[in-house]
Amino acid sequence: MKATNKQYKKAVKLYEDGGATAVYDYAKEIGIDEWSTCEPCEAKTPDCKSKCCLVCGSSKEQNLTLKDRLKIATNKQLQECRSLLKYRQTGKGPFMFPIILKDRGEVKGNTKACITLENDCILFNAKGYSDCVTANDQGYPFLIERYNKEIYIRLYNDINTEDPTDNISLRGARNDNRNKEFVK
Ligand SMILES: [Zn+2]
Repeated sequence: MKATNKQYKKAVKLYEDGGATAVYDYAKEIGIDEWSTCEPCEAKTPDCKSKCCLVCGSSKEQNLTLKDRLKIATNKQLQECRSLLKYRQTGKGPFMFPIILKDRGEVKGNTKACITLENDCILFNAKGYSDCVTANDQGYPFLIERYNKEIYIRLYNDINTEDPTDNISLRGARNDNRNKEFVK
């Protein structure tokens, strides 16, 4: 048996709180016995009737139509599409792009993070981090902006201080600073 669209939408909510394990438990509970390999999950995951992965929503079939994709899209995903379209058409933010930072070291685990495109800067925030003037998890420990012809990374690496702790300019990375022998 494969999961229905309704069950998929419930799985999306479960994933937000409990990750893949919560979805696996749910699938077993409701009797989903058709599992197949999902490339993004790098695992065998429960199947949905709409031919997508119950855990991450990725298509398990290459030729899934746009109509099928829209059918299984959650309200949250549709909202994301709308705000991206608005950003692409008008350049007006914010457009929020959620990401999961997988640990690249020896330790297993990940951190939910988000990149926000504002009209004139890029903001970064992550679960477990914030800045001095914003609630936990909601603030921005760093941003990227252009200021007087130069691109800067402003780092707020002290949650008890309002001003940036570091203002890193990308001056040294400009093309015209390249040594002649490495000219590209
Ligand atoms: Zn998946």
